[in-house]
Amino acid sequence: MPHEVSGVISRSKKQPVEIETIVVPDPGPGEALIKVQACGVCHTDLHYREGAINDDFPFLLGHEAAGIVEEVGEGVTEVTPGGALHWVSEHSPRRPSSRPNKRSRSTRGRSQKRRD
Ligand SMILES: [Zn+2]
Repeated sequence: MPHEVSGVISRSKKQPVEIETIVVPDPGPGEALIKVQACGVCHTDLHYREGAINDDFPFLLGHEAAGIVEEVGEGVTEVTPGGALHWVSEHSPRRPSSRPNKRSRSTRGRSQKRRD
């Protein structure tokens, strides 16, 4: 069942971003669905919004996040539902209507071990 989530969308060059509801499909093979607890919008995202990277609007901003794994797709073994995850995907904001970036580390998951 697809999931409705909020995303920060840049629709056009140098215009204010918007918070919109986007639909995320169930995780496919090699993917994980993460309930994001916190997400940064960094200077690279600002460059996308400013049109300094390309003009392929709209962009879904924010690629540095932390959250809890909700579901995993077929073949996923690195993370499990209920586990905490921190990740940084490649600097390639996705278009809001697309599936998650398959090259993103977020789709494979990367555990961040704490050193207390
Ligand atoms: Zn960044």
